Amino acid sequence: MGGSVRDFLLGRETKDHDIATSANPDELCEIFTNAVTVGKIFGVIRVPYPDQVIEVATFRQDLDYRDHRHPEKVVFSSPEDDAQRRDFTVNALFYDPKTSRILDTVEGMNALREKSICAIGNPTHRFKEDALRLLRAVRFSAELNFILEEYTALAIEQHARLITKISGERVRDELTLMLTGSHPAEAFRLLSSTGLFPWVLPEISHFKPTGGMWTYLVKALDALSRQSPRRSSAVAWATLLHEAGKTATNKKIDSEALTAAHLALVQKISDRLKMPGELIDSICLLITEQPKFREVFEMRESTLQRFIRQPKFAELLALHRAVAIASDGNLAFYEFAQSRYAEFLKSPGMDAKKFLTGEDLIQMGFSPGPKFSQILRTVEDLALELKITSKQEALDYVLQHFVG
Ligand code: ATP
Ligand code: MG
Repeated sequence: MGGSVRDFLLGRETKDHDIATSANPDELCEIFTNAVTVGKIFGVIRVPYPDQVIEVATFRQDLDYRDHRHPEKVVFSSPEDDAQRRDFTVNALFYDPKTSRILDTVEGMNALREKSICAIGNPTHRFKEDALRLLRAVRFSAELNFILEEYTALAIEQHARLITKISGERVRDELTLMLTGSHPAEAFRLLSSTGLFPWVLPEISHFKPTGGMWTYLVKALDALSRQSPRRSSAVAWATLLHEAGKTATNKKIDSEALTAAHLALVQKISDRLKMPGELIDSICLLITEQPKFREVFEMRESTLQRFIRQPKFAELLALHRAVAIASDGNLAFYEFAQSRYAEFLKSPGMDAKKFLTGEDLIQMGFSPGPKFSQILRTVEDLALELKITSKQEALDYVLQHFVG
């Protein structure tokens, strides 16, 4: 049912299989004795299998939506009613394994043929019931390369503001799915044309669809998605936010102040969308490390090695490429950094920090202090530049240069 039947009919890979049935939750628990029953009052149980958890839901009707979010009550019912509670016609198809037939009570097959995302029933009512559907419509339309059916699109434009009723987490999850999906640039074009964008990301609503910044942003998202089909949420969000601090007014501030203002803005967005701390840290790191690419040709070898050996370098590189394509198209820094990174991946060698440790220095009679760190750093630099290639060479170097 739902997404998996849609994806199967479109020949797409399916993420999860959901099952719907006329059996009620108590009957289901007798059949699946290992079921997890967290959503039981809503008629949903989860059955754990070795490689995935399958959701089994009783056909139901959702009643009395409050606050544009959740139904107050559900009643167990028929597949026809169950289809009615779903968001879009393409998401309301059932496959009946007994008869091997598709059960389509909402003209979902037609919408699949027409490549159209169409709300079930009255679009305005459906978006008012649950405003998250506003974003889901955009996400499915971009992901599947489907048009937004005329009245569905109109209702989104008219009620875009309702998205502010939805919690930061749920908005964040939808945006992340758009950003990491197949066509993020298209998703953002749609967010803009439907008028959702300023309500979803008010902090960067100064990115006007007619302006150069917007074209640049969409180009960067497009470049990233073409190059990295399976990208992390951090790099996807960083691509969206790396220029967020730039406005027409702050062009003249020095770059340090700009970075601080920029990071404060990123933090504000991340807080509102309740991003996990780890994700925020990664996004900020990807943004603040970017300018270093412009220096790669002049960097000392050890500095370059430290730069490319950081854990998030692959993501940094992907972001830099997208940014370069979207701005001046100069890929020289990218190509150089990429080739050095490829060399490193081919033969990572020994961790430069391990040639010499504090322990070794103590045994040689040094005591911790500024000179101590200076020695470790010098040896690490030389190891990164391949001027020292073994522990013995490191010890000899220290004896020659720092003893006596
Ligand atoms: P995806 O590929 O993103 O998982 P999906 O269609 O499977 O797409 P889910 O969010 O997994 O989407 O939800 C499964 C099904 O539940 C949907 O196909 C739809 O029928 C229904 N559904 C989910 N969220 C809503 C909602 N907010 N309003 C109405 N129906 C919904
Ligand atoms: Mg799904």
